[in-house]
Amino acid sequence: MDEKILVTRSTMPDFDEYVEMIRPLWESRWLTNSGTYHCRLEKELKEYLMVDELSLTVNGHMGLELALQSMNFEAGSEVITTPFTFVSTTNAIIRSGLKPVFCDIKPDDYTIDESLIEGLITDKTVAIMPVHVYGNPCNVEAIEEIASEHGLKVIYDAAHAFGEIYKGRGIGSYGDMSVFSFHATKVYHTIEGGAVCTNSGNGMCGRINSLKNFGLTKDGQIGDAGCNAKMNEFAAAMGICNLKNVKSDIESRGRAVAKYTQRLSGCDRLRLNKYSNELEPNYAYMPVLFETNSMRDKIFEYLKTKEIYARKYFYPLTVDAVKSATCYELPNAVSASERILTLPLFSGMTDEQVDRVCDGIMEGLG
Ligand SMILES: *Cc1c(COP(=O)(O)O)cnc(C)c1O
Repeated sequence: MDEKILVTRSTMPDFDEYVEMIRPLWESRWLTNSGTYHCRLEKELKEYLMVDELSLTVNGHMGLELALQSMNFEAGSEVITTPFTFVSTTNAIIRSGLKPVFCDIKPDDYTIDESLIEGLITDKTVAIMPVHVYGNPCNVEAIEEIASEHGLKVIYDAAHAFGEIYKGRGIGSYGDMSVFSFHATKVYHTIEGGAVCTNSGNGMCGRINSLKNFGLTKDGQIGDAGCNAKMNEFAAAMGICNLKNVKSDIESRGRAVAKYTQRLSGCDRLRLNKYSNELEPNYAYMPVLFETNSMRDKIFEYLKTKEIYARKYFYPLTVDAVKSATCYELPNAVSASERILTLPLFSGMTDEQVDRVCDGIMEGLG
């Protein structure tokens, strides 16, 4: 039987290097709460991501919730987002006592269709939460223009966009806030982790720092009702080790994507991801759009028989997270969700592994 190829594989730093990193924790016994590694990683990431302010969090999801909470929206307010994302985006809005309003995506890069946003704005709308899905940057200029015209906040779900540079700027510098995920399955990880970033120049990360620590203020007073969303020292140490390798990890992913592209670009029954030429991509995912839903499902099943595990990412749409589902017209999101498959992609993926996946697709297509 062939070796399993899973959709992703976590990067691991050198074992001895990580052990050396965590050894001092046995002496200091300072395991969390703004420890040495936490502070160092915040500094290193701020530089790497080219952002002014950054606050580490226990995971990306809590980063999204904290970003929303920091803006003090009135309960029941509306946030415009897309349903073509991981359910975390939608759940963060709902769990914050806000109402997600779904906007369709563009068929070419799967990001929010900015031309439809204004039609969804009501007197209850307070924010837009777009997603740089698969690392494809949203139309940040158009979104900023709409937001400033209507007095809305913009919080980017940048979970897929680690380290990307778009039009010469760190992608996390756009909008009022951006949130990254450092989950084990992402391009860069701290086992579990995330970060909220901002370039809006108003010290907003100070709010996040307080909210992630129960809402306690710097002088120990009780402020807003915060939670516990701090990153611990073991996770931060993992992050420091992984950050040293992330450039070469991204290059390795890029080589696998190039190999996939070489093998699949001639096939007219599927479409590959379109990369903006103003983006330095991170090759986070390998989405492939098939002609039909049945073709997608057939390939998905066929690959499984070959021990290859692709993912229907994102299916179903997150509209289902809203129990009181209002009717939405989301033709592009529905179509993408029914036809997309993300293929295995990870740092260190070999040409032979890419070939096996592509052979499987070609055989499956028949
Ligand atoms: C992974 C992910 C999240 C959540 O991040 P966690 O670190 O797993 O909590 C949010 N949004 C998107 C689009 C994601 O892919």
